[in-house]
Amino acid sequence: MAITVLLIDDESPFVEALAKRLLKRGFVVVTSTSGPEALTKLQENPSIDVVICDVKMPGMDGIETLRLIKSERPIVEVILLTGHATVQSAIQGMRLGALDYLMKPCDMDLLITKIHEAKGKKSAHENKIAQALIELEGLPK
Ligand SMILES: [Mg+2]
Repeated sequence: MAITVLLIDDESPFVEALAKRLLKRGFVVVTSTSGPEALTKLQENPSIDVVICDVKMPGMDGIETLRLIKSERPIVEVILLTGHATVQSAIQGMRLGALDYLMKPCDMDLLITKIHEAKGKKSAHENKIAQALIELEGLPK
């Protein structure tokens, strides 16, 4: 099944260009140009697997967006996109649960590798939960 990616960046030409490239590579892409809009889209789309989020955005920045995404949907994996000026914020983001960060302009192959890694981690986590529920069912009551 196709991996669904939520792409968040305040620069809409960047979002459109990256979305196009990801679509070409077979991903399902949901786009957003702000944190609040991204949170709405996350609620509307239960199929979102991986979030790619810009760190530097006006209003709600990428770190606050990450924090809210993780509290809303802890199982979704987040990859941060950062420039040199916000690398420290990106590292702080990893403390808050981001899987990794990539420097802008991001290398497409590296980004795709990270998306697959994120999806793998999410699936493994979901399988573990499913397995735990099966084991719980089998326990004597
Ligand atoms: Mg930005």
